[in-house]
Amino acid sequence: MSNYQINAPVFSLPKPIAELGELAYNLWWSWNPEALRLYRRIDPVLWERVGHNPVRFLQQVARKNLNAAAQDGAYLEAYRQVLTAFSVYINADMTWSRLTFPQLSGNPIAYFSTEFGLHEALPMYAGGLGVLSGDHLKEASDLGLPFVAVGFLYRQGYFRQRLTEDGWQEAINENLNLAESAILPVLDENRQPILVPVEMPDRLMHARLWHIQVGRVPLFLIDTDVESNTPADRELTTRLYYSDLERRLQQEIILGIGGVRALRALGHNPVVWHMNEGHSAFSSLERLAEYVRAGEPFDQALAKVRAKTIFTTHTAVPAGHDMFPVWMMEKYFANFWPKLGLDRDQFMALASAQQSWGEVFSMSLLAIRTSERINGVSELHGEVSRKMFAHLWPDRPVSKVPIGHITNGVHTGTWLARRMGNLFDEHLGVTWRSRIDDRAIWDKVLDIPDAELLEVRRHLKRQLVGFARERARAMWNNGNARAIQIVAGGVMLDPYVLTIGFARRFATYKRAALLLRDVKRLVRLINDPARPVQFVFAGKAHPADEPGKRVIQDLYRFVKESSLSGRMVFLEDYDIDVARHLVQGVDVWMNTPRRPLEASGTSGEKAGLNGVLNFSVLDGWWREGYNGENGWAIGSDADYDDPEAQDAADAEALFDALEQEIVPLYYDVDSRTGISTGWLRRVKESIRTLAPMFSTARMLKEYTTDMYVPAALSDTTKN
Ligand SMILES: *Cc1c(COP(=O)(O)O)cnc(C)c1O
Repeated sequence: MSNYQINAPVFSLPKPIAELGELAYNLWWSWNPEALRLYRRIDPVLWERVGHNPVRFLQQVARKNLNAAAQDGAYLEAYRQVLTAFSVYINADMTWSRLTFPQLSGNPIAYFSTEFGLHEALPMYAGGLGVLSGDHLKEASDLGLPFVAVGFLYRQGYFRQRLTEDGWQEAINENLNLAESAILPVLDENRQPILVPVEMPDRLMHARLWHIQVGRVPLFLIDTDVESNTPADRELTTRLYYSDLERRLQQEIILGIGGVRALRALGHNPVVWHMNEGHSAFSSLERLAEYVRAGEPFDQALAKVRAKTIFTTHTAVPAGHDMFPVWMMEKYFANFWPKLGLDRDQFMALASAQQSWGEVFSMSLLAIRTSERINGVSELHGEVSRKMFAHLWPDRPVSKVPIGHITNGVHTGTWLARRMGNLFDEHLGVTWRSRIDDRAIWDKVLDIPDAELLEVRRHLKRQLVGFARERARAMWNNGNARAIQIVAGGVMLDPYVLTIGFARRFATYKRAALLLRDVKRLVRLINDPARPVQFVFAGKAHPADEPGKRVIQDLYRFVKESSLSGRMVFLEDYDIDVARHLVQGVDVWMNTPRRPLEASGTSGEKAGLNGVLNFSVLDGWWREGYNGENGWAIGSDADYDDPEAQDAADAEALFDALEQEIVPLYYDVDSRTGISTGWLRRVKESIRTLAPMFSTARMLKEYTTDMYVPAALSDTTKN
């Protein structure tokens, strides 16, 4: 693979700690807390100021701090341990993948996604889909899978959220400074950017490529900000998910068609193609065109493409699937269908669907028709997807529709609190980190002494409270916030009060305002003098989602009520950093989607792993995770026809559980030790059952065994 180069700038660092520079350009640091601490220890104030970004940190850190670290024996010992671990990791030969599926080594599995949520310093994600993609890459690296990923470079990422005093969401777009990031240009042998051509109706556009190293996995990012492009084209990859349909179509052409060409230009020859959601389904068209160009008839080309393609669908409602009007498809693909040896009608028939507003080309249909292996992201979502697409297999019963499921998981190293990890090191045995999905190991959680577990849980809650207060302080210090916004930002949070977290995208189906259906009961819960409760909310609404923004506003107006005693708060600008503090620091993680609309969800899995108890509707992953002892369910395992009745029943169930079970159990403490044995029993049960099951270790091994390996080994020469 010598046809491209990626050159990381070299920092001038004291020799004993010189490798901090190289480490900064591999995201491995982002899931190894001891590696992160190597930077932070040198200058904790600067570490916060640079947004936890090691590259920026090394550019700005004072020489005297570096020199001090280079002469500090304890620092050097920690440094040596981390760098040794890094080197062992990168050079490991006997990975899970190599040991289990030696036949996989060689050409990579290509993974396409519109967003990747790797770390708060790389704002290339909007929410759950992106964080899942990021976790997927990290786990692929951990397991040693041959992997290459393709996404977009978003120079402005997703927006940053500010709320006005009246709770109206404002979107702030900030430019990412590439020179301060771990994102590096991909260059040819003459040190010129590698350019990938993509045809638009009346012009040829070019995209350039960037690179992020994620452990052992390279992630290539497509960027249309190239001088020779039109000004509008240069902005195409500036932000995630434009609402304008035509721009979205252009983006998806670039990701799918441009993505395949990018991998070819780099000399990668994937054996499996995994489309994470339908946004990248045009990649199949480009691969079909390759076969047809090589002389294959279309049907044979399709059989070959299908055999090697995997499609993961994430959407639980028909309207959520990406689709484009056929006139728009004609405009962009009139020159493409001849390359497939198809005429217009044959081309449209690949993915045609009827909507109330006309005939459309559906990306999910295209993905389904060009993939042999298709999965939803939880058991229930698999069922929902089979029903949704049953019409494509008219001669089969719904249960035989070939869409399975692999339930989402989270990357343990990324989401587990460092202190909790230390506790596991002590009690689970030294090998637990390489056997995360081994359930037997986790039985040992039951032996962790209550006092030790409680100490870690308390520490994490204090960290959350401190985090909220520091952000509120910074807002106040900025001078443009009112006092009431500081209260709403969490200055009155109490680290000893039962704390319930709720953070997610503010789409109406997530029903963030379910609590507000019975204000009297809510206020009574919050203000109980002996057993108070506090709530921490966070989340963004899509900038074009007016109803979602109104939900935030309703909630925020309520949060400011003095009758709530500052115990209900809203943390602005939900991102990976806020998420980490919340899923580690609260006591209870609440989730109230309108079933069955939450395809999987993952934030509750992050919480469960850290000993935070889930309190959720039996939707998505929780329907599989809940066992009666490891958290609580809201409502029953049933679907409703009437959403109003569903909301009323779920709100009632929610308050009943809080009043009768959750609050009493939390405060049922032994006056001598401060321990609630019943609570900690559930905490242990949560960790024991959820950590192995809902890890990406389990998830990626399923993808590998059930999808990647069969696809990679399928013989297409016989077709
Ligand atoms: C984990 C995560 C999500 C996804 O959580 P859901 O359970 O799907 O709501 C979204 N955003 C961020 C920042 C996350 O860390």
